[in-house]
Formats: sequence, structure tokens, C-alpha cells
Amino acid sequence: MKQDVPVVQCELLDTGYCLAWEHHVIQGGAHRQLHCHSLVALLYHPQHGRLLWDTGYAPRMLEVTQRLPFALYRMATPLCLDPQLAVKAHLQRRGLAPDAIGRVIISHFHADHIAGLRDFPRAELIALHSAYADVGGRSGLSALRRAFIPALLPTDFTARATLLPAFTGEVLPGLGATHDLFGDGSLLLVDLPGHARGQIGMLAHTQRGDLLFAADGCWLTRSIREQRPPSRVTHLFVDDARAMCTTLGHLHTFAQARPDVMIIPSHCPETFAREVEQQP
Ligand SMILES: [Zn+2]
Ligand SMILES: [Zn+2]
Repeated sequence: MKQDVPVVQCELLDTGYCLAWEHHVIQGGAHRQLHCHSLVALLYHPQHGRLLWDTGYAPRMLEVTQRLPFALYRMATPLCLDPQLAVKAHLQRRGLAPDAIGRVIISHFHADHIAGLRDFPRAELIALHSAYADVGGRSGLSALRRAFIPALLPTDFTARATLLPAFTGEVLPGLGATHDLFGDGSLLLVDLPGHARGQIGMLAHTQRGDLLFAADGCWLTRSIREQRPPSRVTHLFVDDARAMCTTLGHLHTFAQARPDVMIIPSHCPETFAREVEQQP
């Protein structure tokens, strides 16, 4: 990154977790259950103010999964949520109202990343056009097949959304073209195809160093180190399994080219323990 790039203040927030089998989230994993937390980044840019990377879980996740077909989502990923872990509650404890958030960047439209979206009624909502185009018109089983729960989207979503075309900016090693969100190099969005249509990651220049938010480009950082993808049983909810494996290879290439960058998948228990639980 260039020297005059503004430093973004970044805090990682835990919004609760679901239970997942290790041998599902990584091929060759143990037969034990993992706590897969859904992490959100609260960012503060010196010129553009506060923004969120995803909104994680929120208590309404339990309401919208009460009845079929979306009850199946909760059966597949048993939820352990606490209202005090919703982003809105995290902000309240910091003396911040929901209006303090000017923008929300949506990595992809899976329910565990957008459940808090309705808590930010004034924010600009930023996603890749292809991501929204894939889920926008879906309901019922067709939505469930995309791990998308329509009731989680604000009713004025399209009025507040900025839907980005394919990226053409600065190229990151392995990962390809980016979109420079503020045009100053501080936040670069990048494609992470495969897991969900139009999924994006974000390279952020922060006070903790350069961080790559990898969303669900992998569930475990171990997957990147060992280039080991999730088990085939997870493919039911995956957009393109081959592209998902290719993206994992691209993340591996990026990690080798930029060892200075910490990669933060949304649900990795190892990352959660080190970067959230053990933080002062
Ligand atoms: Zn996902
Ligand atoms: Zn996820």
C-alpha cells in the first residue's frame, strides 16, 4: 500500500455463533463441533466516518427462522445468539446510535451476514450487483437454497443500495482487480467468487495493520494454509464449488505474496480466539 493512505480504525465485534462440524467446514477435519462466530468489523475512516463490514447475527434471526422453510436453516446451523451481541447493542455500549453508521458493506447475502441490516435504517448499503441480482427476487425454498432470508432485507433496500459493477481497479496478488471504495487506497474491495454469487472481500489499511476480510472465502484460516476446502456436504448452499476451490488457491497465493496481511475469515474459531477473545 502507498504511504499516504489514511489509517482506518478497526474493531472486530462478535455477534454470536452457530455450531458446525469440523469435518464439514474442512475436508479431513475432526468429528467435533466448532463454535463458528459471525464477526463484524466496525470501521472509522478519518474523512468518511463510521462504516460496517457486514452486520452478522441479530435476535431477529431467531424470529425469521421459526417457521418452514427457513426453520431448516436453523436446523442446519444451530444458533447460539445473545441480544447483547447484536451490532446495535455493541454500538449502544460505545455510546453510538445506529445513525452513526453511514455505510454497510455486505460481503454476501447469506443470513448470518445480513441479520443486523435492518438495525441501520439510514446507512448506504454497498454490495456487488451480481450478488443482489442472484437473491433479490427469491422467496421460500428458492431463497433458502441460497441461504438467503428475504425478511432480513430492509424494505427500502434498493433505494439505499449502491450495487457495484465488476471490479477493474488495482490488482491484488492472486485475487485480481479491486474497487477502491473511497479512492484513497484505505479500503479495497475484491471478488471472492464460489461460496456465494458476487461474494466480496476487503483489504483494509488499519491501525492493526493491513487486514483482509475474507468473508466466507474460507471458514478456517487453516483452509488457506493447507489449501483444503470444505467438505462436499456443504456444497448444497455453495454457488459454484469449483470457483470456491479456485478462490481458496487465490487466497493462498495472496497470503504468500503478502505475509504482512492478516486474513480474517468471518467464522474462523482460531481467528476469533486470537483477535477477539484474547484482545484487551
Ligand atoms: Zn456465507
Ligand atoms: Zn457466513
